[in-house]
Amino acid sequence: MAFEGLTGRLQNVFSKLRGKGKVSEDDVNEAMREVRLALLEADVNFKVVKEFVAKVKEKSIGKEVMDSFTPGMIIIDIVNKELTELMGGSQAKLAKANKGPTVIMMVGLQGAGKTTTSAKLAKLLQKQNSRPLLVAADIYRPAAIKQLEVLGEQIKVPVFSLGDKVSPVEIAKQGLQHAKDNGNDYLIVDTAGRLHIDEELMEELRQIHTEVNPDEVLLVVDAMTGQDAVNVADNFNTQLTLTGVVLTKLDGDTRGGAALSVKAVTGCPIKFAALGEKIDALEPFHPERMASRILGMGDMLSLIEKAQSNIDVEKAKEMERKMRNAEFTFDDFLEQMDQVKKLGPLDQIMDMIPGMGKMKQAKDIKVDDKQMGRIEAIVFSMTKQEKQHPEMIDHKRRKRIATGSGTNIAEVNRLIKQFDEMRRMMKQFSDMMGPKGPKGKAM
Ligand code: GDP
Repeated sequence: MAFEGLTGRLQNVFSKLRGKGKVSEDDVNEAMREVRLALLEADVNFKVVKEFVAKVKEKSIGKEVMDSFTPGMIIIDIVNKELTELMGGSQAKLAKANKGPTVIMMVGLQGAGKTTTSAKLAKLLQKQNSRPLLVAADIYRPAAIKQLEVLGEQIKVPVFSLGDKVSPVEIAKQGLQHAKDNGNDYLIVDTAGRLHIDEELMEELRQIHTEVNPDEVLLVVDAMTGQDAVNVADNFNTQLTLTGVVLTKLDGDTRGGAALSVKAVTGCPIKFAALGEKIDALEPFHPERMASRILGMGDMLSLIEKAQSNIDVEKAKEMERKMRNAEFTFDDFLEQMDQVKKLGPLDQIMDMIPGMGKMKQAKDIKVDDKQMGRIEAIVFSMTKQEKQHPEMIDHKRRKRIATGSGTNIAEVNRLIKQFDEMRRMMKQFSDMMGPKGPKGKAM
């Protein structure tokens, strides 16, 4: 996951500050020196780092902070607020046309993730009950049109294409007309990219721009390329006037510099972040939530939103009832795992829970999806009866399950033990809570 190095270093700085009842100017200077190094190492633009550190320092050395009982905490809060400001302050929302379809032009270098992001954005809009139309205007990259068509089919969003023999300007123009004729409220134009910025590319993009008069020009940049991503953004912005940036590949081990520099250097807000290759791995960018993730403070809001849009409420209620009555079986367990998987890769979910990211690093906990696969394989190897009545799984059955699932008996034992403990805890908890809330001693 992105920012891991930065998060670790900042947390070290803060743990030194947090414990102090009094903070001297020297302490602040020392902490800021470390913050500066951490940011530079994360590939944040050096001018941005300089200004950032100066601002935080100025606010931290004030009398109010120095005299407070929890100066460390106040400084952390200052850093949090400044990081949020650095990334734009608050969420920059997508523009909406007053009349007719909202036209979004996607631009960027080849390989940045433009085509994938176009489809992801269409999916996101569709989830909000919009009717987007994708336009395949990248006629140069072999297979770009096909790629968009396949993605469109997958998410059931129409793709407008005229093949690769018609000019992109004409495709965009006819695409817009098609959207108007068919009542599409968003038009997402996937334009061509190049390996490097060149005049010919810019000219073509300008012509498309003139033809469709977009409400949004979103530049897709690969966060893994660090400072280069920022330079590309700066360059595109001077030639085309961008309305926003989409940062892709934030799931990789990018050091995060692009996310922290792009707004400050170009003035363009980051509107979306892509955190994976899957079609639903695109999120609106919230600076305050990203700052919180960078500082290792989690992001419960995003997690709750993910849960709300992915989890079946009726099923969750039924599950809760079963837990209360200790009727929870291995079948329910599988179902619950399925629901969790819908939220995204496990290590990303862990990072959203406050404190979890740090614990994961300290204990070197591996929360990969492969592990989940092994657990599933064990449950799949149980018979129907065994899943419903786990207490019947004796040693002989455990051996059979281990062989059937390609795991070993120790793993099977561990899972069954954990499951038993979970059931017992649920039972105790529900007895204690009773039907009308807590009984007896407070917990
Ligand atoms: P384009 O040339 O800009 O249209 O780039 P593509 O959309 O074809 O994407 C290039 C590659 O990057 C593909 O293999 C995508 O699957 C991958 N990709 C795009 N976005 C992400 C992302 O957020 N995370 C990861 N890990 N890969 C991505």
